[in-house]
Amino acid sequence: MRILIKLMIATFLIAASGPVSAHYVTGEEIVNGMRKTEAYTADGATYGPYEWTYKYKRSFDGVSLTKHVEINFVFDDTYTAEEQATYKTTAEKDIERIWNNKFVIRDGDKKFPILVDVTTAGPFDQTVNVSKNAGVTDMLNWYATHTNGGNTDLPGVRAHEFGHMLGLFDEYIGGAVDKFPNPTLSDHGLMGSGTYDEKPVMHERYYQQYLDYIRTLNPDTDHSFRLVSAVPEPIAAFLLAAGLLAMALHRMGGRTRSCVPCVPSSGKP
Ligand SMILES: [Zn+2]
Repeated sequence: MRILIKLMIATFLIAASGPVSAHYVTGEEIVNGMRKTEAYTADGATYGPYEWTYKYKRSFDGVSLTKHVEINFVFDDTYTAEEQATYKTTAEKDIERIWNNKFVIRDGDKKFPILVDVTTAGPFDQTVNVSKNAGVTDMLNWYATHTNGGNTDLPGVRAHEFGHMLGLFDEYIGGAVDKFPNPTLSDHGLMGSGTYDEKPVMHERYYQQYLDYIRTLNPDTDHSFRLVSAVPEPIAAFLLAAGLLAMALHRMGGRTRSCVPCVPSSGKP
């Protein structure tokens, strides 16, 4: 009998752990390249040309898709050693919080989280100079304030510059926009003016390369990979909230029961 139970447990464990890696081709590779935008004139001002290199490791381990960037933060003397350590931790958290778990890749019933992973240990993909002084922040020079006085020591700004490290273009006039005179612009997106928002909008297009990658690894036609939001739809969030409210009111007793559709409770009115 004991052997039978052990056998059943073993069978269950094999069944539970088996299928994920069995049906998907996993992979890992270094991606690097250069982005260039031509100079352009808008509203009487000329911007660019711009040029930068990007480099990251992307991987799919059968569970999630990740882009990993090693950043070498180099501080000027406006930062103490303690502040430098705090800055690195904060920057890593800011970038990962804004980028991670906004979209997932779905394939039938399967869901694969889409993640970025920032580390600061080396060997490095990028070197970023950090200063509390005023300056114009770009991908490799992060200032605490803009020369015009605005605060640029912000999570959204760090996450925006990280977007360039993944090869993304700007989405505001004045920046390194793609396809001028018909660039993609965004008022609230992270790569547009939303960089200053507390919660920048993370557009689906920022994650397109993850989808391309899993499709390249798994080209068979029986997969139907697509990007879907990882954030619950408003209607789903509403139903969940209504359900929780119903449960809470139900626990409060009979007085409020007529207000909400309650589940039957054993032996109570
Ligand atoms: Zn930018």
